Amino acid sequence: MNILVINCGSSSVKYKLYDMTQQAELAVGLIERIGEVESRISHTCAGESTELSEAIGDYSVGVARIIDLLTTCGQPPPLSDPGQIAGVGHRVVHGGESFAESVVVDEGVLAAIDECSQLAPLHNPANLAGLRAAMAILPGRPQVAVFDTAYFQSMPPAAFHYAVPYEWYAEEKVRRYGFHGTSHRYVAGRAAELVGREKPNLITLHLGNGCSMACIRAGEAVDQSMGLTPLEGLVMGTRSGDLDPAIIFHLAGRGMSLEQIRASLEKQSGLLGLSGVSRDLRDVLAAAAGGHERAALAVDVFAHRARKYVGAFLAQLGTCHALAFTGGIGENSAAMRHRILDGLEPLGIRLDAGRNDRRAAEPFPISADDSRIAIWVIPTDEELMIARDTQHLIA
Ligand code: ADP
Repeated sequence: MNILVINCGSSSVKYKLYDMTQQAELAVGLIERIGEVESRISHTCAGESTELSEAIGDYSVGVARIIDLLTTCGQPPPLSDPGQIAGVGHRVVHGGESFAESVVVDEGVLAAIDECSQLAPLHNPANLAGLRAAMAILPGRPQVAVFDTAYFQSMPPAAFHYAVPYEWYAEEKVRRYGFHGTSHRYVAGRAAELVGREKPNLITLHLGNGCSMACIRAGEAVDQSMGLTPLEGLVMGTRSGDLDPAIIFHLAGRGMSLEQIRASLEKQSGLLGLSGVSRDLRDVLAAAAGGHERAALAVDVFAHRARKYVGAFLAQLGTCHALAFTGGIGENSAAMRHRILDGLEPLGIRLDAGRNDRRAAEPFPISADDSRIAIWVIPTDEELMIARDTQHLIA
């Protein structure tokens, strides 16, 4: 059974084609700069990569081109006919309170995703465009929407409410939703297998360009670090994470426009804003090692914030069976993992310094044998999760 996974960003489409019967990845690719004069396509199939530069005006042209590449590139191409695609799984960023799990898409679902666009104005319209394009190009083929927010719909009111006038929630849907849900769900599922418990208590740390942490009790998400938008919570590559909302009024009072403040908090903050060096942790760590003070400060603030959330979530869980790191930083940076967890022995966390230095291709444990909480590094796989949901829902 061939499943195509599509992830439409604000100006890009990522895709992967799976043969779910053989558990094989048949092709993977990315179209960037959609809508610009020269879009870039990189397509890999059976180990062979093709790089193309051509005009891809919109998502429907992009999705048509992807299907074209899947049926023409390769010896032989993975598909001889688009009809061999059994279904398409789409990443959708915001499902609001309408979706607590993945769904087969119909007109009602499209309308509900459209309604959530006000909560994710950059992402949901792109996701919708990809959905509509795939529906037009593959008529009659089931399309499945997999939401970043769905996994966190199990959060209790105490965790998802902001302490603001209740009408803001009732009328404006202002509440905490949580993102990266597909990644946290995948990692939590793997962690449960690895610790041999069906419904464990877990803390999952997704640390990439975007960073979030999830608190999972008896297999269900009960809290997470992101909020109404993915700006809340941990320090990220260019996003601030938590801050006092009064900072916004202060800066507005000093003459900054709301648009400037928003752009600064989303694109000029986090590791980049503090260090002035880069949003990429590798560059920041290298600069810090070379004596760059602001780079060292950025690393300190990043680790401090993450530790604070680990502590908060441990307090909520009482008993925690495992803690799992994922994402580019979580999977690869032993130094950052160490900074976050160092000194937490009294809480039952003990890293094995030797094991902690490895890189993740497969999950591996990094806790010492006498650690009360198992600590794992688990490479995430959001596309596979989307493909599995799609397979499950169309079977
Ligand atoms: P995205 O959220 O865009 O998917 P990734 O999950 O790929 O991003 O994570 C990107 C981050 O991972 C960058 O900050 C990068 O510096 C970091 N990273 C990747 N490899 C390493 C490494 N070996 N050491 C430290 N950081 C790393």
